[in-house]
Amino acid sequence: MTSDCIFCKIAAGEIPATIRYEDQEIIVFDDRQPQAPHHLLIIPRKHIRTTLDLTTADNDLIGHIYQIAGKLANDLGFADDGFRLVNNCNEAGGQVVWHLHFHLLGGRDLGWPPG
Ligand code: 5GP
Ligand code: ZN
Repeated sequence: MTSDCIFCKIAAGEIPATIRYEDQEIIVFDDRQPQAPHHLLIIPRKHIRTTLDLTTADNDLIGHIYQIAGKLANDLGFADDGFRLVNNCNEAGGQVVWHLHFHLLGGRDLGWPPG
């Protein structure tokens, strides 16, 4: 746990969030500023700063995140219509929280290219 990290605090239960799924490796909760009817954030429990900090030891973790994203999209009913799983990396990529996370967006037509 990194003491000044808001997502570490959510994972530790110190800051409230609407939890959609959790297990030993990851936790999934609603984004507080949703950009679509469904907007979930999938994070590893362990603090990883950005995509660039991943190592081969994290390969199973990333595979697990993708598996759970698809399962949640199915369970919440927007998988068949379509959805987006996106990671913002560093400033120009739009990252503002420095704990690795994946946005799972669904429930509307998502434009392309993104802004
Ligand atoms: P980024 O721009 O870093 O990819 O995405 C960060 C996301 O975290 C944003 O969509 C923002 O709304 C969300 N967020 C930031 N702080 C909190 C918080 O305290 N609780 C929740 N649920 N979401 C947050
Ligand atoms: Zn963290």
